[in-house]
Amino acid sequence: APNTADTPEFFPEGARVAVLTSQPLDRLLDYKAPADGCFRGAFVEVPLGPRKVLGVIWGPGSGDFDLAKLRSVIRVLDVAPMRDEMRAFLSKAADYTLTPLSAMLRLATRAPGLSDPPSMRKILRLGSAAPDRMTDARQRVLAVMEEFGGMAFTPKELAEMAGVTPSVVKGLVKQQALIEVETPRDTAYPHLDPELPGKTLTADQEAAAGALAKAVDSGAYGTTLLKGVTGSGKTEVYLEAVAACLRKGRQALVLLPEIALTAEFLKRVEARFGATPAEWHSGATMTERRRVWRMVGQGAAQLVIGARSALFLPYRDLGLIIVDEEHDTSYKQDEGVMYNARDMAVLRAAMCSAQVVLASATPSLETWANAEAGKYKRLDLKSRFGASVLPEMRAVDMRSKALQPSTWISPTLKEAMAERLERGEQSLLFLNRRGFAPVTICRACGTQVACDNCDARMVEHRFMKRLMCHQCGATKPVPTECPSCGVEGKMAPVGPGIERLSEEAAGLFPDARIAVLSSDLFGSARALKARIEEIAAGEADIILGTQLVAKGHNFPLLTLVGVIDADLGLQGSDLRAGERTFQLMRQVAGRAGRAERPGVALMQSFQPEHPVIRAILSGDEEEFWRAEAEQRRIAGVPPYGRMAGIVLSGTDLAQVFDLGNHLARNNGPLMQAGAQLFGPAPAPIARVRGRHRVRLLIKADKGVALQDAISRWLAPVRLKGDLRLNVDIDPQNF
Ligand code: ADP
Ligand code: ZN
Repeated sequence: APNTADTPEFFPEGARVAVLTSQPLDRLLDYKAPADGCFRGAFVEVPLGPRKVLGVIWGPGSGDFDLAKLRSVIRVLDVAPMRDEMRAFLSKAADYTLTPLSAMLRLATRAPGLSDPPSMRKILRLGSAAPDRMTDARQRVLAVMEEFGGMAFTPKELAEMAGVTPSVVKGLVKQQALIEVETPRDTAYPHLDPELPGKTLTADQEAAAGALAKAVDSGAYGTTLLKGVTGSGKTEVYLEAVAACLRKGRQALVLLPEIALTAEFLKRVEARFGATPAEWHSGATMTERRRVWRMVGQGAAQLVIGARSALFLPYRDLGLIIVDEEHDTSYKQDEGVMYNARDMAVLRAAMCSAQVVLASATPSLETWANAEAGKYKRLDLKSRFGASVLPEMRAVDMRSKALQPSTWISPTLKEAMAERLERGEQSLLFLNRRGFAPVTICRACGTQVACDNCDARMVEHRFMKRLMCHQCGATKPVPTECPSCGVEGKMAPVGPGIERLSEEAAGLFPDARIAVLSSDLFGSARALKARIEEIAAGEADIILGTQLVAKGHNFPLLTLVGVIDADLGLQGSDLRAGERTFQLMRQVAGRAGRAERPGVALMQSFQPEHPVIRAILSGDEEEFWRAEAEQRRIAGVPPYGRMAGIVLSGTDLAQVFDLGNHLARNNGPLMQAGAQLFGPAPAPIARVRGRHRVRLLIKADKGVALQDAISRWLAPVRLKGDLRLNVDIDPQNF
């Protein structure tokens, strides 16, 4: 139940500790308790080999060891202990993702300096005793304390506010009319006020907000899909759910894809609640992260806006988790602990009786199916807010267009752009390819330049005058002669990238102000955000963007979206390709006509009759989802079947494959469980930073206890040399 302080259970002797090791460790280690004992959930420092490491007391000692021979916990850290519910969450998450507990623990302790004692300061609170002799000066001090109620001051602050000398305050402390308390030096977050008036909601929005508020009020677990086209007011609606949560005195978390964490978003929250909330993301300073971690733990941060790892903060009483743009693939962490923040949010909420809101214009098929099956509730916002309407969507059939070589803007699109320029409106060209050209090829022998570390092709980036590998980030100069045949002057860029497209647009419209939004063109997330805000303010006529622009930005002057290659995502054998393309195209199209100006989206395609393109154009989403769902059902893949990937990696390809083949041969536990095993085969990303990656895929019916079978199968594995094994439950690519 929420709000009950966990009762610390005291272990006077031995304790089992979850230890933060660099080598993932799935066991708890036994230690002797320090002289004054320790308790469940306490953060401790323990010896491990020659080092001192961070750990959490998980339970009493196993009793398997002679206490006298055990090493002792070094010290108990001065931070709030980990709550039972958090430990249960980490254990379950570790079991689900088949991740060692130590790796899970690392996610939950990512506050730097956690093991240092916090810097403390003395503050004063009202004591119970009355001073033996009341003076004017003393009276003034006590009046200040009373006036400011719960607030605490340092002795110096208090003396200043009351206009007395420090000795007066000291006297009151001596007589216990004031009590000195030590607290960490972190500054508190300003109070968020849910009672400030929100926007007046439309009837549709009101109904959805009411349903969410009611769910939050229930104090029970539940998940709701909040589905609505871009601009329908999903954010306004879920902020009302946040208000309901704050009213109950519980904490709320809004998860956003990292790139959507903009100043614009924070301003909206501030407008609603009167103050800025805590922020948790990779760009935050160490000091700020540490402050958030502590404040969240004390329950003093009412609302956290964060990227996926904010899920692992030590909330005191979490009542609501919003996952905005829940379909976004960046919620899936693909390295280290492979977890999907959306699914973990649901797990976490179930453990602390919280509500989850999954918001999206284009939900993932998994979420759509869970709503269909009645596992999640579903709320729909049918129309855009105000006068804004969804853009008209049209296909431009590229088969009938004879374009100049190395140009990609069709005459239809060009004409539409010219109209926008004339009217002082913005156009957005979308091409999901960073760099200048995706391929650099030798026109003499046909060799393509590939990365030395990975198998990926190198992409030319003109602005830095180098070729770059989009997998590992390695760069090298553009070769003047072919690395294979040695012929000079024949290396040529092939295909469109966003930089090359900007050259084409500049050639067509020399007077237009052109802005390129591609993640690699910005040194920092901050610089990118600043640029996006300038563009929103109208400081560009033509915007060129990679998938960055698909996410949650509001450009009021934008009335035309041109999708350069709508077929791009439909190639390849990826079963999710249709879903991804559908989502991306709808999101991009949703950028146009957000304000009072109606928009148009033009999709250049060589296969306008493709079912995905047709569904985008017709806007019949449910039909699209049903067709997709049927395909997955037939293939027996998630959400209608279970899947897992085993990714093996190492520097020696033969060794990696040997291990893969060995696992494939010794597949007893999987076969007994009725699962199927495929591979080993090169992983979707076959080589990264000089390491080869090989994947085994496991498929099973819904009812199979997959994790259990996999653990039994992998239990005998001992990794030699630099071999690594990662389990990927519910892989994104299959
Ligand atoms: P979504 O999250 O679905 O994309 P938003 O909540 O961002 O939609 O709403 C789109 C725009 O419309 C925002 O600028 C928002 O402030 C505005 N808006 C939505 N609903 C209302 C309302 N009821 N009153 C005033 N403005 C609203
Ligand atoms: Zn590379």
